[in-house]
Amino acid sequence: MSAHKILIIGIDCLDYYLVKKWKLQALQLTSTGYYLVKSDDRYTPILWLTLLSGIDVTKYGYTSQRISRSKRLKNFISVFLSLLNKDLFSYLKYEEGNIVERIRKLYFNYIKKILIKALIFGNKSLSFKEKISYYLFLKSLSTEKAPKKILKKTPLYLAYKKNLKVLSIEFPPLNDNIYRIIRNTLYFLIDAPESLRRYILEKIYKGTEVSLKLILNKIKNYDIILWYTPYIDILSHMYYKPRNLKGLLRLYIGYSKINKLIGKFLSKIKDNNLAIIIMSDHGYDPLLMDHSYYGYWSTNIKINNIKTHQDLSYFIGNKIFKIIKSKNEKE
Ligand SMILES: [Zn+2]
Repeated sequence: MSAHKILIIGIDCLDYYLVKKWKLQALQLTSTGYYLVKSDDRYTPILWLTLLSGIDVTKYGYTSQRISRSKRLKNFISVFLSLLNKDLFSYLKYEEGNIVERIRKLYFNYIKKILIKALIFGNKSLSFKEKISYYLFLKSLSTEKAPKKILKKTPLYLAYKKNLKVLSIEFPPLNDNIYRIIRNTLYFLIDAPESLRRYILEKIYKGTEVSLKLILNKIKNYDIILWYTPYIDILSHMYYKPRNLKGLLRLYIGYSKINKLIGKFLSKIKDNNLAIIIMSDHGYDPLLMDHSYYGYWSTNIKINNIKTHQDLSYFIGNKIFKIIKSKNEKE
């Protein structure tokens, strides 16, 4: 097959073993496999940029540690604002831990309340003080954006320079704006009440559905398309726990929904020149209760040599270079 276009379907946390176990056919194209994630830094933006660039981005200072330090610094004022609490003294008196831990917990609860409020009732429901903290919180997230010096090392950058038409929708860490907020809010909401968790998941599923519809009409106008959903990652963090049958059932329903959605979407694409790759940045290990050391890939091209995350990024890079070359020859 001679591909002149590439479609990258990024499904955060899609787990190889679960796709196989539950025989989710739409997610398994011509060739399917898993690859090893060698990086210890398995935070979403880090791994996706590693996959897109094929280089060790942590060596360029793009690490989750640096990102969170910078976010903390940018939210420092909110720590003071969280101290402007009527019950501060009784709180500090009765709460356990040393003073730093107690203040950290106070800040955590303060920002959590704001995020839930904004999520459910909108920003307008926030008080003036809360608005400042919310604004600072959103501002601090820009730290996660892909640094330009690394972006320049990706084949995507070359594609832009060669005037190829690149469409990326909420793809981390290129241009995920809404998902970046969701990712960071989720950190405070993994153990939220069941009804709130369902509400969040439903919202994200709707977003996934809408953005997929959006690209369906645009594929013909673009050379490189990147699409992404955090749905499975959020679902896994909330429900994938050892020996939790109810959670596993939720997970199964969520996986099936995505399988069906992708299947329906792919059946509507009639472009023989399109290379399609479905991939994840990592799977999920229920025993670790964290991201696993292997990621998922599946493509409509017959191959079998993707074993590491470097292999996967070379595969994508190669496709992009070929598209650039074929465009050049046409000119
Ligand atoms: Zn995750």
